[in-house]
Amino acid sequence: MHDDRNLVEARLKRVLDERVRPAVHPESVPLEVAVWHAPGEPVPVAEGLAATPEPIAPGTAWGAPWGTSWFTVTGTVPAAWAGRTVEALLDLGFNENSPGFQSEGLVYRPDGSPVKGLNPRNQWVRVGSPVSGGERVHLHIEAASNPVILGRPAFQPTLLGDKETAGTDPLYRLGRMDLAVFDETVWQLVMDLEVLGELMAELPADGARRWELLRAVERALDALDLQDVGGTAAAARAELTGVMSSPAAPSAHRISAVGHAHIDSAWLWPLRETVRKVARTASNMTALLEDEPDFVFAMSQAQQWAWIKEHRPEVWAKVTKAVASGRFVPTGGMWVESDTNMPGSEAMARQFVHGKRFFIDEFGIDNEEVWLPDTFGFAAGLPQIIKAAGSKRLLTQKISWSQTNTFPHHTFLWEGIDGTRIFTHFPPVDTYNCSMSGRELAHAARNFKDKGVARHSLAPTGWGDGGGGTTREMVAKAARVRDLEGSPAVTWEPPAAFFAKAEAEYPDPPVWVGELYLELHRATLTSQAKTKQGNRRSESLLREAELWAATAAVRTGAPYPYEDLDRIWKTVLLHQFHDILPGSSIAWVHREARRTYERVAEELNGIIDSAQRALAGDGDRTVVFNGAPHARRGVPGGGAGAGSGAGEGRASARDGGGFVLENDQLRVEIDARGLVVSAYDRTAGREAVAPGQAANLLQLHPDFPNKWDAWDVDRFYRNTVTDLVEADEVRLDGGTVRVRRSFGSSSVTQTLSLAGGRLDIDTEVDWHETEKFLKLAFPLDVHADRYASESQYGHAFRPTHTNTSWEAAKFEACNHRFVHVEEPGWGVALVNDSTYGHDVTRTVTGSGTTTTVRASLLRAPRFPDPETDQGVHRFRHALVPGAAIGDAVREGYFVNLPERRVTGAASERVEPLIAVDDDAVVVTAVKLADDGSGDVIVRFHESRGGRARATLTPGFPVAGVVATDLLERPTGEGSLTVPLRPFQLVTLRLKRA
Ligand SMILES: [Zn+2]
Repeated sequence: MHDDRNLVEARLKRVLDERVRPAVHPESVPLEVAVWHAPGEPVPVAEGLAATPEPIAPGTAWGAPWGTSWFTVTGTVPAAWAGRTVEALLDLGFNENSPGFQSEGLVYRPDGSPVKGLNPRNQWVRVGSPVSGGERVHLHIEAASNPVILGRPAFQPTLLGDKETAGTDPLYRLGRMDLAVFDETVWQLVMDLEVLGELMAELPADGARRWELLRAVERALDALDLQDVGGTAAAARAELTGVMSSPAAPSAHRISAVGHAHIDSAWLWPLRETVRKVARTASNMTALLEDEPDFVFAMSQAQQWAWIKEHRPEVWAKVTKAVASGRFVPTGGMWVESDTNMPGSEAMARQFVHGKRFFIDEFGIDNEEVWLPDTFGFAAGLPQIIKAAGSKRLLTQKISWSQTNTFPHHTFLWEGIDGTRIFTHFPPVDTYNCSMSGRELAHAARNFKDKGVARHSLAPTGWGDGGGGTTREMVAKAARVRDLEGSPAVTWEPPAAFFAKAEAEYPDPPVWVGELYLELHRATLTSQAKTKQGNRRSESLLREAELWAATAAVRTGAPYPYEDLDRIWKTVLLHQFHDILPGSSIAWVHREARRTYERVAEELNGIIDSAQRALAGDGDRTVVFNGAPHARRGVPGGGAGAGSGAGEGRASARDGGGFVLENDQLRVEIDARGLVVSAYDRTAGREAVAPGQAANLLQLHPDFPNKWDAWDVDRFYRNTVTDLVEADEVRLDGGTVRVRRSFGSSSVTQTLSLAGGRLDIDTEVDWHETEKFLKLAFPLDVHADRYASESQYGHAFRPTHTNTSWEAAKFEACNHRFVHVEEPGWGVALVNDSTYGHDVTRTVTGSGTTTTVRASLLRAPRFPDPETDQGVHRFRHALVPGAAIGDAVREGYFVNLPERRVTGAASERVEPLIAVDDDAVVVTAVKLADDGSGDVIVRFHESRGGRARATLTPGFPVAGVVATDLLERPTGEGSLTVPLRPFQLVTLRLKRA
């Protein structure tokens, strides 16, 4: 037989596009449309409904960037349509692509009850089925004229990303606003033909099934009268029933479809817009659940649920009802889908505390799945935190975005730094926006790496990023591939049901040890430096605020600021969202974030100050508070006392130019260029700087990635570098050395000083570069095959070599407070107060192998924020020659938690609320229990990767000790003497006598 596949397939495409799809709505009449443009920011629903609109015709331009317009549409169903199904078709001027990245709307009835969200893939509102004719139609649309930021060509700088710079030119032209007859049979035919056409394209051309589908499609097209599609659609469908009823193969891949809308809590839109995006999507999904009895929808991010509850009570009522039915499912158990590389130990823990608690409090649902489809890599500290929160499963698809290496599993156990293993699934569909296309389903089945031992995967199904969710078309397609020969078999179900099946069929899955490194978006560890600094400062301040407020509450009876701390924690957690903390949002988001972090700091400093004043008592002496976990200059960790000054260096001139800083621990030589040419550890008698090299070297690289400017730094950036060795000035200032340099349009001032065994380096940069990457380099005389970076509740190792593509891909990685390299018995730490990105490389010279550690300071991408990082920044780094890993941990805390001095009664030595007798055991939180009982909660962990046995001494009468999970729920007997395994995390609740 002749091969006419191309002919029939082309015929199918044209007939679908030009005849069948247009026949879904065969008759229409225009609606009357009027509009009121809200003058500024979005207004309450009642205000929008009550406004007086002006008439507007289709084709008219509307919508200033970030504006809100309230459309009123009215009309009457023609009497001739009695008995038919009628829909309103509401086109705000959509481009059919990119739902969630452009104009959107939420439709209301005149009484303010929400109907559903509008986006380019969801423009209909059901009026009646069947109608009797003559009905009045009256709807309101709260329309957001959000600009397209990620337009074509992508990644071009734009001023549209901030309302302050976006201008007022209208962005959209009002499209079709009609009442139309909906021909259900024609629509079903479209679904049949799309499913079979898409399936056909994925099947092998030498298999019979493909040809059976082709012939059936041809017969259906033959049965269709193109002048009377509505009248012949049923006959066309009849030609397809045979191939549609042939069941899936017994070995077919099984897909658990989960209705979903990945909604970025901020990204190419500000936080306030996400509040509305969530309302639109939730309205859409509750409406779809009412229409489709098999459909299941899952929504993550407790923050987004809380927004609905707070801002859209009428939507919340529908959501809570749908949750009760078990088909609108809370998932994820985190406050937001956060970044997981950068959040510190406690913040990562609190993501789960606040997320899970919200779902437990509101619905009594304690879900065990962690839902992070879009997060840019997963720190090796995370498994232990997931387990300590009472969860046990993780889902992400993001690692499929890796540029270089293909991850070997889709279902596996992920093992963290302490040995905790979490059952993990990567949906092989490789997207969190599955649309149920044949191509996606076939890709999932082909791509699934665990074939032969497992057969289930999950597909998050629905428009996401900017929201939208699942459509009726996706549901119709899923119904057709429930059991269809040639296709994977698809069933709607909640994430927990999928995981139960996956675990049952795969009791002994493979294990992946260590971080899940995303080989992409590496620059998110550096972009938007002030957002990152705000996060780190806020985390440190929250630690101090809880510690001192708890201490003051127990010791003096001062009130504990439960509500303030709860609210501030949630603010900081929200800003760890995977496009805010990573620096990949529009200018508006980061401008607001900077202000928010300032307010957070002000409020937390207020809490700390009043607690410390209560503790210090009255007097005129200086009381030094040490918020770090370890004793410092005579003051215990978590306590206060008189303190003692020590450790600053003496400064003198250096032979050959420059200066020498020294104390009894270190001797540091700074040359006439302001570079550190020697850092000598007097205790060990060892030099830290690599022979012939100079540390504290600022290096400037061009940095223009191939795409994703704020997200990506591409490996070729290293091919070109400028060493900033020219100094404008190098001078002594008391016991410190000050260095000034200028380069390009920027300048930098550094202050170098000694603090005990640390060389502290304060770097202030007035940054006015474009598409450059600034690094601070420390070539170290250490032979190291691997190095340690602090992560949550411990540290993880990475190799210093690039033997395989896996190691080569990790050319930029994340640290928290320190990076540490060592030879047996001697090491060096580089500590920071707010930077996360770094690289570590090895060099072999005549004198042996050395290791260079570089901290990433600043970038200057121009998309999505064209002014990223312009302005003044201040960083603190410290070099710690001779540091063992425990020293790195301790100095990391010291640099991030400076001593605080309060005037009070010097006789008052404040003993710590909880003292620990083992320096390897680090207390990360001391606080009062969230339940308001007054119990003291203490969380600690083994910080060096070894064994410890810690005895805790409470500084108050204790009536009992209970071990708890992160949510402070009892898990067993507690004891004040605790043996710990490497990196083990422990939470205890101490009841006060
Ligand atoms: Zn996302």
